[in-house]
Amino acid sequence: MTVLAYALLSCSSDDSIKQLPSGSNPNCLANGTITIINNNTVGHSFTVSIADVNAGVRKVYDITGSASHSHLFVISEDMFTTLKTGVEVRQGSTTFEGHVHSVNVLCK
Ligand SMILES: [Zn+2]
Repeated sequence: MTVLAYALLSCSSDDSIKQLPSGSNPNCLANGTITIINNNTVGHSFTVSIADVNAGVRKVYDITGSASHSHLFVISEDMFTTLKTGVEVRQGSTTFEGHVHSVNVLCK
């Protein structure tokens, strides 16, 4: 039933995990999240709030930010469950004119 195009296997420079905080036990419920949008030169941004993680209900985010085009990014219940355990999730956004952005959501 999904109409989203995921492109997890598309070629993209994988420069993602540099912003992982050093230190211990990332905790989305206590500290919130970090979102990293890959291949993002146009200002896409969005926030996954602590309340969203706590609710754990599938949510569609608009990651447009300051860009002139938009993508959607969906976090499923399973992904929220993963975030609740402090583990990063990664998935592709929807496609806009032939490009997608893979998005990493990490716990602070
Ligand atoms: Zn884009």
